[in-house]
Amino acid sequence: MKDKYGRNIDYIRISVTDRCNLRCRYCIPDEQAPVLPKEQLLSFDEIVRFCRVLPELGIHRVKLTGGEPLAREDTPRLAAAIKKIDGIFQVTLTTNGTLLAEKIPALEAAGVDGVNVSLDTLDEERFRALTRRPYLGRVKAGLEALNASSIPKIKLNCVPLEEINGDELEDIALLAKEGRMPVRFIEMMPVGSGREWTMIPEAAVKERLVAAFGPMTPVEGRLGNGPAAYYRFPAFSNPVGFISAMSHAFCEDCNRIRLTPDGFLRSCLFYGNGVDLKTILREENDDRQLARAVRQAIWEKPKRHPRGPAGEDRKMYQIGG
Ligand code: SAM
Repeated sequence: MKDKYGRNIDYIRISVTDRCNLRCRYCIPDEQAPVLPKEQLLSFDEIVRFCRVLPELGIHRVKLTGGEPLAREDTPRLAAAIKKIDGIFQVTLTTNGTLLAEKIPALEAAGVDGVNVSLDTLDEERFRALTRRPYLGRVKAGLEALNASSIPKIKLNCVPLEEINGDELEDIALLAKEGRMPVRFIEMMPVGSGREWTMIPEAAVKERLVAAFGPMTPVEGRLGNGPAAYYRFPAFSNPVGFISAMSHAFCEDCNRIRLTPDGFLRSCLFYGNGVDLKTILREENDDRQLARAVRQAIWEKPKRHPRGPAGEDRKMYQIGG
């Protein structure tokens, strides 16, 4: 459906858990990061029931996120159930890749349309320093399994940060040179702990890549669900993309809403707690109430996000990145 500014909202990111098996410093600030009591997370049935009202509202594409969605045991089964809903055309997932190798068969069987892997460094020591876990080998195995899988759309996402990977961006971009996986550079947003890091803006990343690989050509039109702008380097088989919420705010084209693991619907990543759908899911049997609340939230989607730090309390892992 359209919001009051005429934007067509047809895509939702559903965070299925706030748990994660990594502790990325810009996302989960400390080792003992608080997580919600299990009973506050939406159940399998609640998520599926919520998804059933989406097609009538014009939302046809679902991304499962977290926390780490594969840390939740029933995520592949959930993906399969959502995929079977009439009017849901696409179910994708974003993951840190650590559990991917073992979950690929279940994701293939579920009919998942795409998987994005988040990876910010190719260096074991840096990976350990950033994520507080020695799991780079697992992510690499996950990427290999993903490349060899039948999952149609795969991508690698990297957040360029001066402190972490400023001198590695070329190596990370090179992952798009062969195989079938585009690489996207995502600007750090001042959400949660993100505001304490030195983001590298799109223009600076482009400059470094052009210096290494020569001129790049923009890819016309839209690839994928989101706001990424893609470019091609002549020697690369896959495009390199940029998602730049800060230097190129894409609010006027924003097509998405988000559901937090505890059932709050957020029409903008940067604003407030959102609308409490969990109470409706748990206390009302009438799906029309649910649909009405979602419609209202979409209608009231803010025109744009603030330019500076978001004035809210939740960290990214608690919202769903
Ligand atoms: N665990 C899953 C994953 O790694 O893809 C899903 C959740 S994670 C929060 C999703 C993405 O959000 C990751 O790519 C992470 O790098 C990114 N992220 C976390 N905090 C961010 C921030 N402040 N700005 C931009 N991206 C952020």
